[in-house]
Amino acid sequence: MTDLLDNLRQALGTAAVETGVDRLSYFANDVYRTGGLPLAAIRPATVEALQHAVRICADAGVAMVPRGGGASYTDGYIRPEGGHVLIDAGALDEIVIDETNAVVTVGAGVTWADLKTALEAKGLRTPFWGPFSGLAATVGGSMSQNTLSHGSTAHGISAQSVIGFDVVLASGELLTTNACDAMRFYGPDMTGLFTGDCGVFGIKARIRLPLLPVLKHAETVSFAFDSFADYHAGVRLAQIAKLDDSHFGLDLALSQGQIARQEGLANRLKIALQVMQKAPDKLKGLATLVRMGLAGENPMRAGAYMCHFIVEGFDAEDARHKAKQLRRVVSAHGREIANTVPTFVRSVPFAPLFNILGPGGERWVPIHGVFAHDKAVAFNAAFHALLAERKADMDRLGVWTGTMFSPVGPSGFLYEIALYWPDARTSYHLTTLDAAYIAGLKDFPANAEAKAYADEVKEAIVALLQQFGAGHFQIGRAYPYQSRLSAPAKSLLGAIKRELDPKGLMNPGVLGL
Ligand SMILES: Cc1cc2nc3c(=O)[nH]c(=O)nc-3n(C[C@H](O)[C@H](O)[C@H](O)COP(=O)(O)OP(=O)(O)OC[C@H]3O[C@@H](n4cnc5c(N)ncnc54)[C@H](O)[C@@H]3O)c2cc1C
Repeated sequence: MTDLLDNLRQALGTAAVETGVDRLSYFANDVYRTGGLPLAAIRPATVEALQHAVRICADAGVAMVPRGGGASYTDGYIRPEGGHVLIDAGALDEIVIDETNAVVTVGAGVTWADLKTALEAKGLRTPFWGPFSGLAATVGGSMSQNTLSHGSTAHGISAQSVIGFDVVLASGELLTTNACDAMRFYGPDMTGLFTGDCGVFGIKARIRLPLLPVLKHAETVSFAFDSFADYHAGVRLAQIAKLDDSHFGLDLALSQGQIARQEGLANRLKIALQVMQKAPDKLKGLATLVRMGLAGENPMRAGAYMCHFIVEGFDAEDARHKAKQLRRVVSAHGREIANTVPTFVRSVPFAPLFNILGPGGERWVPIHGVFAHDKAVAFNAAFHALLAERKADMDRLGVWTGTMFSPVGPSGFLYEIALYWPDARTSYHLTTLDAAYIAGLKDFPANAEAKAYADEVKEAIVALLQQFGAGHFQIGRAYPYQSRLSAPAKSLLGAIKRELDPKGLMNPGVLGL
């Protein structure tokens, strides 16, 4: 081990090799769980340095676990047994914009927020342009575990917005997945193989993404629905119509969580300022603010379920026209409410990671599944039956849930359950959130009983999702995968893993590999 650390320090510089217990304890956590302590956390600053470090680890026979922004909660970069080298991609932060060819090449550690800032200065964006966690989440992390949100109705998930990767394999070799710089689909889709792999096939070092112009003109539209069946009926039509850039739904519990967060004059003023700054037409920005002011917090309590749409257009007329069509599509199932929430999200697409704790400071973990539309309503009923069965214990232990929904193309419906329980924070929460923010929240003592019960509820929800045939993004170690593959598919996956990483050193255990 001393040799390994010395060699890594020599290759990367002492500052890029962390061995202090405090930092290693932080790196042993994701948002949800605490794993074993890594031997070291390294931060290579160039692709060549990353290759060198990987060779050193491979020679020592030590497991390597890549980490981007660390904003995930599916045990994807933590290793229960510890003893690994954690590879923090954060210093691979180069952004090269090629306007002529409409391609941007980024280091894997570039955050979606930094990419947005760099591209926006040139009037450009990527089709999918990041998760809500984009202040921390990296392009490499999102591509490695499949991610959706901004731009997803119009352009799909992260994997649909990539041309190619440069991946450092367990041997230290660099594999480029696209045979032609201009496109991804030259022969079998080797780029696709590395999307959603959770780093089990190698470490993404560079990513090439296509570019589009930013459409400055937008309409934001919100609808409330009285039941989940109404919500789903309206939103299914919106998904198929594909008129918005992105939309998301919240039930009342999560919407009220939002209210708890946005309360306070300082926050309101900040939001107002951001709304004004983003408005291409200042008069319209002012009118929106007045409307938001008059509506107050009502839109967040307007129905059992709410959906918030962001519609973009080449000009104001284009955006207005699409919004009008969208209203026509959805209004048979719900009623329009004030557009405060999507207006806020459009002006602050990447908020600080406050949601890693619940509105009252509780612990938080989301669990999701993607269904075919014909399963959504039945799953919702089964999920509520599960909650009813467990109500007495959940109430006793202070465990509660909220739900949110997103489109996955026209045919997939993502149902996400946020699970909360009262428990102590880990060094992940204490390092990620600012001390002043944490000081304003209730401080829960360690609560092993509530934690064990929350774990049990999470397992039960995953089993129920599987029963309904759900698929999952962000598999990590949290969702079953191999059990869903046919025998030939499973054997192909194993053969690819053995070819790319014969000693099984690259993020062992994720995807069940
Ligand atoms: C407040 C909050 C909001 C969120 N909002 C969304 C959302 O809107 N949509 C959504 O889909 N998800 C969301 N997430 C989940 C998560 O943030 C995203 O999925 C995000 O893409 C994770 O990126 P990351 O860089 O933090 O990856 P990490 O958490 O660091 O890693 C994720 C996985 O990818 C692997 N990995 C990381 N970097 C590399 C690399 N360079 N090469 C190979 N493998 C690598 C890791 O080993 C791990 O398995 C949210 C999370 C939080 C906390």
